[in-house]
Amino acid sequence: PVRVRFCPSPTGNPHVGLVRTALFNWAFAKHHGGTLVFRIEDTDAARDSEESYAQLLDSMRWLGFDWDEGPEIGGPHAPYRQSQRMDLYKDVAAKLLEAGHAYRCYCSQEELDSRREAARAAGRPSGYDGHCRELTDAQVEDYRAQGREPIVRFRMPDETITFTDLVRGELTFTPENVPDYGIVRANGAPLYTLVNPVDDALMEITHVLRGEDLLSSTPRQIALYKALTELGIAKSTPAFGHLPYVMGEGNKKLSKRDPQSSLNLYRERGFLPEGLLNYLSLLGWSLSADQDVFSIDEMVAAFDIADVQPNPARFDLKKCEAINADHIRMLDVKDFTERCAPWLKAPFAPWAPEAFDDAKWAAIAPHAQTRLKVLSEITDNVDFLFLPEPVFDEASWTKAMKEGSDALLRTAREKLDAADWTSPDSLKEAVLAAGEAHGLKLGKAQAPVRVAVTGRTVGLPLFESLEVLGKEKTLARIDAALA
Ligand code: GLU
Repeated sequence: PVRVRFCPSPTGNPHVGLVRTALFNWAFAKHHGGTLVFRIEDTDAARDSEESYAQLLDSMRWLGFDWDEGPEIGGPHAPYRQSQRMDLYKDVAAKLLEAGHAYRCYCSQEELDSRREAARAAGRPSGYDGHCRELTDAQVEDYRAQGREPIVRFRMPDETITFTDLVRGELTFTPENVPDYGIVRANGAPLYTLVNPVDDALMEITHVLRGEDLLSSTPRQIALYKALTELGIAKSTPAFGHLPYVMGEGNKKLSKRDPQSSLNLYRERGFLPEGLLNYLSLLGWSLSADQDVFSIDEMVAAFDIADVQPNPARFDLKKCEAINADHIRMLDVKDFTERCAPWLKAPFAPWAPEAFDDAKWAAIAPHAQTRLKVLSEITDNVDFLFLPEPVFDEASWTKAMKEGSDALLRTAREKLDAADWTSPDSLKEAVLAAGEAHGLKLGKAQAPVRVAVTGRTVGLPLFESLEVLGKEKTLARIDAALA
């Protein structure tokens, strides 16, 4: 059976790279009817926080992910927070030491640095040189007497490691490129290098799908797995697949610190989870050459890790927005109406809460649904309905109010006053007729009306907007513009 894991560290806000990794693991598990294990890698007390942990869970739920084992639901390998598994790691480290797969290393940071420099200068590999591999009892005694606290280092076998990456195909690492590495700090704290593969082993993970930035740790982990298997701790070694880098602006790797990578940003701007996931799935994968927009179910049905491309993927905000816009169009109107509520009924909405009118909103919603790229744009599009007066910006006013606009507005007011307010067509006829009276086409004639009534030069379909706003307010706003 397929068992995959998603194992973020709760440091800072979740970012889109993390979401892409979660998505591919989740889709892989669903596609194969497997199990998704959600594990929290919180062994770095200095960087992890409860706040980030809570946010991580909230983000995963918002995105619509579910997991079979992990926080809030538990499972056969509980606990799923590494901070609660410290005894296990201590035990494994002791076993590795005892079997000779690991050793205590007493080198100080200065010694490591200076030997690394020397190796570099001589053109030799600059990783750990094996200095403490075979210390004599007397040497150990001596280091102890000096008060040195050792770290625990894993002894890499002197052999080439080859594995078939699920995305990249066969990869080979020679021993000089994979030196012995630390697994437990001098203060006894186990490192990612130990706890991550140990948990993958204990939780019987079959496929490790993660970012390319972790590729260099894979040969180390494969060697560690071999030792764990020998010790009866691991049953087998998982398959590995490394997902391509995500590039941001200027073709630089999108980093966690890049504001554009923060999941919260997308959430606050009103991306739909389904739109965002659709876009993120395209970072390294595609459903077909001619279909960019699809549902998560379609993705799950088609997802094959072998189709993921190893070359870096570019994060394109415009495309992300366009795909999100398509998902907004695909919503059922009622669903769309409800999803906009957090913006419309927010304390930070520009109108007084009691000015909001559900019936007006329900009437205009279908026209807004076809226009938005992200839900937060709803506020600017409908504020004319709920504010006592439209918000005018100077530029829009000057752009729309040309010489002759007053005369046009006066005629438009007359015709609108006489129009049938139960149909937008009648309102359109009125403005069309006013335009004709002044030698203006509909587009030119409706511009001053739009600005007078909504304050903006662009917006929702005008005649539907006027109808929803109502005759009285429409005429009063035209009067105010003429005054
Ligand atoms: N906690 C690690 C991270 O967030 C997990 C890496 C892995 O998937 O092995 O980078």
